[in-house]
Amino acid sequence: MNKSIIKDIEVKVLELPLKKQWKISLYAAKTRAHAVLKITTEDGIVGYGEASPSPAFMGETGYTIKLVIDKYLKPVLIGQDIFSVDKLHERMNFSIYGNYAAKSTVDIALYDAMGKTLGVPVYKLLGGKCRQDVELSWVVGMQDLEGAIEEAKEKIKLGYKALKVKVGNTPEIDYNLVKTIREAVGQDVPIRLDANQGYDYKTAVEVFSKIEEFGLESIEQPVERWDIEGLKFVKNRLKTPIMADESVSSLHDVNRIINERAADIVNIKVGKVGGLSIAKKIATILESAGMTATAGSNLEVGIGSAASVHFVISSKNVNLPNDLLLGGPLHEYDIIKGGLDMVDGKVICPENPGLGIDVDESIFK
Ligand SMILES: [Mg+2]
Repeated sequence: MNKSIIKDIEVKVLELPLKKQWKISLYAAKTRAHAVLKITTEDGIVGYGEASPSPAFMGETGYTIKLVIDKYLKPVLIGQDIFSVDKLHERMNFSIYGNYAAKSTVDIALYDAMGKTLGVPVYKLLGGKCRQDVELSWVVGMQDLEGAIEEAKEKIKLGYKALKVKVGNTPEIDYNLVKTIREAVGQDVPIRLDANQGYDYKTAVEVFSKIEEFGLESIEQPVERWDIEGLKFVKNRLKTPIMADESVSSLHDVNRIINERAADIVNIKVGKVGGLSIAKKIATILESAGMTATAGSNLEVGIGSAASVHFVISSKNVNLPNDLLLGGPLHEYDIIKGGLDMVDGKVICPENPGLGIDVDESIFK
């Protein structure tokens, strides 16, 4: 009497307005296209998924996700069991290569539906709790210097445990920005920099060997995603740990980073790599190499952020502050009603079945 069979899949694209322009070295935007997916099983259980990749970062958007799911993924998923996660990824990969954000929305919805079917929160399906709550970092996007300083001070006051500062502008602007933020927030706040591929490997060493005197927790993706040798070149010449983000966009990318010892840390985004099941595999592979990770954000709002919280709560070596409550505060409005709150710079894991959030169903009307 197994009725955990996928009966229907529906995808909506919501282009949500941002409160102010979001700018990193790759792009600038005032809205974000989110793909929200709803899986219904024959039991009548509903699971939700969400992804909101930026075109410049991943080559996918909410709009391509809808197309890919409707045309390529839905036909191979309908009639299948939600509990056959690996098999469903195999079917999706056979149907279309890549498109990991599209596959993430499906994977997240499968976990939400599995949890609701069994009456357990998603983290219990992922191995149970390794920690009680998730420490949060705030990401300061590119903007004028005064705005960046004000935002950094305000977020630390609100309780965020670390700052991630977007760099990859010009060497002078980056140097000044980090210097001024360090002076503004004091020595104790961990500062992570994210260049989003903004420099070539030689310039990256020149720029960051000067900036690291201000005290950095890590430097994320200093060079182009494909330049693994360049990443390693930078890592071997700086004191600060180097983090790979864009360079690890799928399960297989992580091997090369480990084999070449090209980074110290990996930014695992659930919505970047193919969902919770793939994120867990990447975390385990990193653990096998003695490496740690953080969980970043693609500016997902409530559904995608909740998925990432369950991932971090259940993953031992994802132990740095995470950018998980970023999309919600950056957007004008969310698609969940409450559920993910920050207490003392940490997000408390939802305990209700599935993702444990209350999705605003009116978005599907
Ligand atoms: Mg990044």
